[in-house]
Amino acid sequence: MSKLIAFAAIQGGYKAVSQAEGELNKALATYDAGTKIGFPNTAYYLPVIYSLTGMKVETLEDLQKPMAFARELLPPHIKLKLWLPYLGPLLDAGMAGIFSYEIIEALRYLNEPDFYVQGEDPDLENGRKWVGAADDTVLRKRGVELVDGSAPGFAAMVGAAPDAATAKMIVEDYQKKSLYIFCAANHNGKTLIDQCIEENMQIGWNTRIVPFGPDISSAVFALGFANRAAMAFGGVTPGDYKKVLMYNKDRIFAFVNALGDVGTEWGVAAGGCVNWGFPTIADTPIPEILPTGICTYEHVVAPVAHDEICQRSVEVRGLKVAVSQIDIPCSFGPAFEGERVRGADLYAQCGGGKTQCTELVKSAEMGDIKDGEIIIQGPDIDGIKEGGTFPLGIFVQIAGREFQKDFEPIMERQIHHLVNYIQGIMHMGQRDISWIRISKAAIEKGFALRDIGVVLHAKLHQEFTKIVDKVQVTLFTKKKDVDDLTKTARKEYRARDSRVDNMTDEDVDTYYSCTLCQSFAPSHVCSVSPERTGLCGAYNWMDCKAAFEINPTGPNQPIEKGECLDAKLGQWQGVNDFVFKASRGAVTHYNFYSMVIDPMTTCGCCECIASMLPMCNGVMTVSRDYGDQTPCGMKFTTLAGVMGGGASSPGFVGHSKHNITQKKFILGDGGLLRMVWMPKMLKEELKERIEQRATEMGVPDLFEKIADETVGMTEEEILPFLQEKGHPAMDMEPLVG
Ligand code: SF4
Ligand code: ZN
Repeated sequence: MSKLIAFAAIQGGYKAVSQAEGELNKALATYDAGTKIGFPNTAYYLPVIYSLTGMKVETLEDLQKPMAFARELLPPHIKLKLWLPYLGPLLDAGMAGIFSYEIIEALRYLNEPDFYVQGEDPDLENGRKWVGAADDTVLRKRGVELVDGSAPGFAAMVGAAPDAATAKMIVEDYQKKSLYIFCAANHNGKTLIDQCIEENMQIGWNTRIVPFGPDISSAVFALGFANRAAMAFGGVTPGDYKKVLMYNKDRIFAFVNALGDVGTEWGVAAGGCVNWGFPTIADTPIPEILPTGICTYEHVVAPVAHDEICQRSVEVRGLKVAVSQIDIPCSFGPAFEGERVRGADLYAQCGGGKTQCTELVKSAEMGDIKDGEIIIQGPDIDGIKEGGTFPLGIFVQIAGREFQKDFEPIMERQIHHLVNYIQGIMHMGQRDISWIRISKAAIEKGFALRDIGVVLHAKLHQEFTKIVDKVQVTLFTKKKDVDDLTKTARKEYRARDSRVDNMTDEDVDTYYSCTLCQSFAPSHVCSVSPERTGLCGAYNWMDCKAAFEINPTGPNQPIEKGECLDAKLGQWQGVNDFVFKASRGAVTHYNFYSMVIDPMTTCGCCECIASMLPMCNGVMTVSRDYGDQTPCGMKFTTLAGVMGGGASSPGFVGHSKHNITQKKFILGDGGLLRMVWMPKMLKEELKERIEQRATEMGVPDLFEKIADETVGMTEEEILPFLQEKGHPAMDMEPLVG
């Protein structure tokens, strides 16, 4: 903690207490001690004092008790030790100041009964700008919004912006985020409210710009409002100060913006607010109080530029803002997910073997990205002719206080269904084998690639509120940029895949399901174990585990393996039970380690499809990026069309690239040693891993023995090669028994 600000705040505490004492003594000399004291139309007395101490102030005389209490709170006579020891003096001084401010405001109601307007709106025609304490009708109507989330919180604005235009910009930023803007105090006689009026903005509870009062003491109305919400809606008993403050910290997302020089009086208010867990963000270089302890994150942050103060405040308070609008010209929603874009409707496409289309999600530092920023590097869709193809790189950066690197693949996998939610746009695949088809109808409505960014920003915020604070999307449409991104992405994919490399299926009692693809393949259920990654390649066991943590009711559920029914083929009772339910009875059981006998179900987005080659006593596999004929007589697209509906098809299985070199890959059928044919490109991509795995299996030169398209495209063409090379499959037991 900065000693300076603590000192200023403690000074401010003494000043506030003395001022309140002076005014109270004057009032006691002027009025009868039994004179009524209080804010209008409320059952909560002076709400800050009442909620925190239980003291009911009804008369002038009653004010003496809280006044004495405030005096005692002043350090060094620390009586009420709230929270952290090292912040103690500051917090106590702050609290003393806040009590004093409430007393000062109560006396103003006595001395100048017409100073504040009653009700929701100021009376500008008669020059009465200030609304003062909200009465209980306003509290019921507005306070509930803070509690039910329709207003995420409030910004307590103290002082004034350097000019009216800046004031307008800041206030509108908060309005857009549906926050209440509680205004108090002036800076050299100027107030934010005057600046709003100058800019013709409507002020009052209705527009959420609430003009509490012109002095720093009127900031106490914001705290009184928050504490009454705690008592009215949170059922907190008056006097239970710990609960009141905790309720505010946890439930009322509020913070202070100090606009202008922070003197001792503002300092004590800021210190007081820390008791509520409300941090102060200032536009002047006051000393920061950074250690986190009471506020969710930092206590005082400064100096912050005016065009950043909104975003920064929201971030410091840990406020979660829902992006409710998805501003794109096409309809949007799960209803459009399963919709296809067929040949005749197609305007343009990227990926799908025609061009490169790559997706990557990476975490970023808070300060390195701008929330909502969508950058298009290269031409947007208007630069692409009908019938055209174009490369595309979708690079999403996410920052979040709670965001972990482990969540990257989960966020990345959302791109698939979120882009599909756009009417007239179809998305298939993932990672570096994505495929997006854009329909003519979407183009007619005005769709642009930018809209992909708009959707990803809005939905990632919406669906992952807890972990996502900022989303920035960059779309690359120039070949060189896309190739660069692809290179980076492949490194990332490899690193992710290798995280489960040292785990075995025997190590864990729990596998995870993935049913993300059921919108296309209704009976499809992926079961993901450490040694069998999801067939799309996008989810491994770790990813599913993290996905379940983020979203416990989502598509990745833990599966208790239960009794092992067949260790060789990989079948468990628990998995069967789960799959039966999750496929709504369509699939009763399947094996993890076999493609010959009851293999796992396959959906259309698998990276590879393996097929039996009976004549060669082996198997082949083909990846999506290989477009030619294969020895099983079918191209990848044909195989995917036949197998991809979510059925279990003996003799075929969808799997990820990474799975080929995982230890359990079709181990029930002989494992990797059965592999007799792969496309050259795939073989080369996995070379190192194939050699390593083959060595473990006792055939170090297996790589040389696997045929590819340069050897042949039919079983007849490759069989002599296999025999000549002495491929291990030649001597294995017959594949079909
Ligand atoms: Fe999930 Fe399987 Fe679909 Fe991948 S292929 S997203 S693991 S259901
Ligand atoms: Zn799928």
